[in-house]
This record gives sequence, structure tokens and C-alpha cells, in this order.
Amino acid sequence: MNQKIYLDNNATTKIDEEVFNAMLPYLKEEYGNPSSIYSIGRKTKEEIAKARENIAKLFNSKPENIIFTSCGSESNITAINSSIKLNPNKKHIITTKVEHASVMEMMSVLEKGGYTVTYLNVDNRGCLDLDELKKSIRPDTCLISIMMANNEIGNIYPIKEIAKIAHDNDIIIHCDAVQALGKIKIDVEDLDVDYLSVSGHKINAPKGIGALYIKNSDSFTPLIFGHQEKNRRGGTENVPYIIGLGKAAEIILKDNYKKEKEIESLRDYLEEEVEKNIEDIHIYGDKQNRTPNTSSIAFKGVKADELMLVLESFNIYVSTGSACNSEIALPSHVLTACKANLDDYSPIRVSLGKYNTKEEIDIFIKRLINVIGMLRRKK
Ligand code: PLP
Repeated sequence: MNQKIYLDNNATTKIDEEVFNAMLPYLKEEYGNPSSIYSIGRKTKEEIAKARENIAKLFNSKPENIIFTSCGSESNITAINSSIKLNPNKKHIITTKVEHASVMEMMSVLEKGGYTVTYLNVDNRGCLDLDELKKSIRPDTCLISIMMANNEIGNIYPIKEIAKIAHDNDIIIHCDAVQALGKIKIDVEDLDVDYLSVSGHKINAPKGIGALYIKNSDSFTPLIFGHQEKNRRGGTENVPYIIGLGKAAEIILKDNYKKEKEIESLRDYLEEEVEKNIEDIHIYGDKQNRTPNTSSIAFKGVKADELMLVLESFNIYVSTGSACNSEIALPSHVLTACKANLDDYSPIRVSLGKYNTKEEIDIFIKRLINVIGMLRRKK
């Protein structure tokens, strides 16, 4: 059996051993409810507070501005829901054509409920035009919701400039930073966003835990009502997972993005080798401004789905789009927005993580060269 090579870290990541060990006691003997006032409840409450401090530090927030949620999708929907509740008479929202499904789906629900949504275009590298954003603003615009980093092509969007445009026009700004967290530095004070969403399973914490930065809790409307999280998110806290998220944040803080530099070198090495050894390839996205781990590569005439399956037979895992889209045989909305020529150049997404090694990348490159040659000869 070939060694397993997992190159789909934008879909999800392996749980860090340290994270797992930090969680274990809270799945077993430390099961006190943090709302209980006796000692075993107080203990879990204190541990939640530490986790909140770590996640807050990771994007330079105050701990009290963060609530824990069940996932990045919940964080996104909570932020959007709260934003529209603040200005019920304003019925226009601006987002982009390349957002995550959780934002896209929420937007179509809102459209059915009477909202108008402007979906900003991207160019063929996936970049936004901020003039288009400025021109799209209307007197009734209540919210701008734009991601920090794209899950499929890795593009990083200028959130600080976007937040300034929003606030100059008295508009709330929400940023989905799920794919940015841990990969690039985030500073909510500097960005000056109103909401920022993150998720645990993209940073080697488990699936099913997220967090939301809320700049102003006085004007916040919860999605789930209850007294937890200072009345901002009901439901008994998911203590082990919150502790896991806190530990994952602590690990990133300790490492201070050194690992990301190594990941970037590996990604660049991979692309250079592919460019050197395989003809007629195309790399999607903004090469100057991408997350350090992501590469969306197409090989002329080779169907990404077929390539993915052949690679899987060698125990190598890449994807053909966002994980959430993979079961639906629709062309990716991100690549469609980039006006990609998917008949000739359909890409696989290779997204590296902290456990990938140079040895794995070398095996992958070798396989890729052989498999592309084989698939092209078959035509
Ligand atoms: N936003 C982006 C950009 C994502 O890539 C994802 C997950 O793939 C999410 C939001 C949703 O996060 P979760 O899976 O925790 O709901």
C-alpha cells in the first residue's frame, strides 16, 4: 500500500496530538457544566476563559469580544443575521461571487425574503475591484460581507480597505476569515471589522467548533438564544472542543507563523517543479497574494475529477473544489466567477498543511508527472 499523502488541508486538517491530549480530560472526567457554580463547573469555566484568551490573542481581539459557535458556517450566519437586524429598513447587502456556501446560501434566503444582494465580480485571477464595491453602495446598504481568503484559489482580499469603505458609508462589515486563520496574521483592531468568523478544523482543532469576533456586543442579536456566552449564544458550551480550539490557537501563537513559511516554500517548490516538468499547465488565483498553502493547478486536457480519482488510487488526496461542493457535480462558482476555461483547464486544489513533508511533495510530483502523461496519452 502506498503511503497516504493528504493534500486537502483547506477542506479540513488532522487534529494536532497536543490538541487531542488537551481535550481528552474534558471528554472524560472533567465533565462539569461551566454554568454550575460548584468546583467542577468552575474549573471548566476557567478553562473556557483560557481558550478564549488564546483565540483572542491570535487575532488581537479582547477575549470579551469573542463567542464560541458550532462552526465557521454558524459564525457567518450569526454575523449576517445580527447585522441585518440592526437596520431592518435597509434591504441591500454587498458580497462577492466567490464566498463560501454558508454565505451564498444565506444570501439566497435573504433574497427570497425581500433583500437585494449585489455579488461583486472578480477578474480572471480572482481579484476584486474596489471601485465596483464603491459604486455598488446604496443608501439602503446595511452590510458588506467579504471573505479574507478564498478556500479554492487562496486569494487574500484587502479587508482593511474594504472595512474603511464600509465604515465611511456607515455600513457594517463582516469578514469570513475561516481560511485565513493560522495562515496569515489577522489583527481585528487594525482591520477594523465589525464581525470576523473563524473555524477550528482548518487549524488542526476538531470539526464542529468555531468562533465569532463581535466588535460591539450592545448592538448584537444572537442566532441562538440563551444565557451562555453573556447572552450572545445559547447552548451549553462544547467544553472539550473549545479547549481544543484554544490549544490550536496557542500552538500557532508559539510557532509565530514559522511553519507557514515552510509550507509556503513547499508549495512554491511544488509549483516550480510542476511548471518545469509538465507542459500546458495553468495556476489559478493571484500568485502575488495567496494563502501560503494553496495551489489551484490545471493541466490542459486533463479532467480534474479523473485526475483526483487516479491520485486517490495511489493514496494521494487532493480536491477539485471546495469540500462542500465536491459531492455536487456543478462547476465551482469560484472558478466560474474567474471565467475559467474549465473545458480545457479544470484544476485540482492542492492545499498543504503542517504535517506535509518535502518527501511527500516529491512523491506527489513524481506521481503527477506520470499520471498526467498517462491521462494525456489516453486521449
Ligand atoms: N468559510 C470558508 C471560507 C470555508 O472554507 C469554510 C469551510 O470550508 C467555512 C466558511 C465553513 O466552516 P465550517 O466547516 O466550520 O462550517
